[in-house]
Amino acid sequence: MDGEPTRILLVDDDPANAAALRTALAERAGSQFQILHVRQLAHALKFLAEEPFDVALLELNLPDSRGLNTLQRIRRQAPQVTTIVWSRQDDEAGSVRAIQAGADDVLVKGQSDGVTLARSIRHAIERHGIVETLQAFDRQKSDFIATASHEMRTPLAIIREFVTLVLDGLAGPVTQDQTECLTSAQRNCDRLAQLLNDLLDMTRLGRQEAELHRRRISMAALLRQCANDFRPMCDGKGQSLTLELPDGLPDAVCDAAKIEQVMVNLLGNATKFTPEGGSITIRPGFDQHLLWVEVEDTGRGIAEHDQERVFEAFVQVDREAGPGIRGTGLGLAITRRLVELHGGSVWVSSAPGKGSRFGYSLPAYHEGAELQAVVTDTWRTVRAGAAPLVLAVVYAEGLSSAAPEHRESRLAGIHDAMRAVLDSLGDGFISTCECFVAFAMPMGRARAMSALRSLGHALPPLDPQDGGLEYAVAELSRNASADEGLTRVCERFSIPA
Ligand code: ADP
Repeated sequence: MDGEPTRILLVDDDPANAAALRTALAERAGSQFQILHVRQLAHALKFLAEEPFDVALLELNLPDSRGLNTLQRIRRQAPQVTTIVWSRQDDEAGSVRAIQAGADDVLVKGQSDGVTLARSIRHAIERHGIVETLQAFDRQKSDFIATASHEMRTPLAIIREFVTLVLDGLAGPVTQDQTECLTSAQRNCDRLAQLLNDLLDMTRLGRQEAELHRRRISMAALLRQCANDFRPMCDGKGQSLTLELPDGLPDAVCDAAKIEQVMVNLLGNATKFTPEGGSITIRPGFDQHLLWVEVEDTGRGIAEHDQERVFEAFVQVDREAGPGIRGTGLGLAITRRLVELHGGSVWVSSAPGKGSRFGYSLPAYHEGAELQAVVTDTWRTVRAGAAPLVLAVVYAEGLSSAAPEHRESRLAGIHDAMRAVLDSLGDGFISTCECFVAFAMPMGRARAMSALRSLGHALPPLDPQDGGLEYAVAELSRNASADEGLTRVCERFSIPA
């Protein structure tokens, strides 16, 4: 340790614990620790914003925050600070959850003397430093891959363009031999382009930069479209492609483009690894909360010990020597990340020589799921710095004509759902007005509030049709006025100016 004392922010609503900590650390470790004690999360966040600390020592259950939410809020506000959970109970599973949520250590109150406590705190600081260094290396590596892949795409596209030009005879007659050479060059340009795209996707997903735009979509329509897109390729290989749509398949809350990418990966593999004359079946299913899709083929299958590995990046199993079946080994890794980003999971069951069944799940549509997805995605965009302030409006169709009690209870439900989401995300402002719930994300809060107030007056009665939720999100950039944002909201709802 250098000469500077270690600054600890102790967040605990029980003053007796603070006194015990002070006594323990002062007795054994002298003045190496400076402790500032606060009793509420709000105060802790304020101090972390204004003063430098080395360690935040946290009781998770506070008057204004409970459980892992406390840890997450502190981590978000001050990721550079070592975070130690100071738990009342010696709960193994709870400790693992806290570490997974980013805690550097979990200590149990009353279990350690001053020397042990001081040592644990120092070790946690060291570990935090090591993790930060590794994360910085990882970011550098990802930046390098992303930049290199991105920069290589343009010259590659130009090479392909010229190869195509020559191949099409625009630069003069082409012999049979030359055509074969150029066709091979063109095919390899396409492979390289695919590899670069996959690498870019992987780095974006790894850095959690992938933007999600989840909406309620018809899964049946999406799957029909995917099946239609693949049919010509399957026909070309004499493979049958069947979509077995069950009655009543619910809608999904997902980013349609990303789930299409998942389907392209799974169907692409199924056609690739299934011989001519084989069959491929898309089989969706659902229960109350989830819907899932399985893609089954009668292809070469995968040995049991390889089945988990195939979801790892760059893993290709049973790869044949020579040109054989080509790929990057990234498709399933990307698939898994995309599905997990949606809160779902992936799986495979397969037997060598008998075929494979790859599946993934997604949350099925219900009002709360869509709302949560929209707010979370919006928040991600804000945090990525793309939009400093976000103003959003949600309305429940038909509410304007509903009986007042019904309207109130429905709005309260929407409000509570949004409040819960905002609480878990950080700061935010939320308001209900007439049949709308509106919220604004941090920055320019005063501007957002006045915008929201005027929104309440500007909105006309709604069409009392069915009961779905509608929403509009306006991004107010630092330079745009609140009015511009409002205009966009009004356009979205077709509200006359
Ligand atoms: P790629 O297809 O580009 O090699 P993926 O990540 O999509 O990369 O797949 C990784 C590996 O998993 C493939 O190389 C193959 O060995 C195996 N695999 C994926 N899908 C199937 C399938 N339907 N049948 C048999 N093997 C498969």
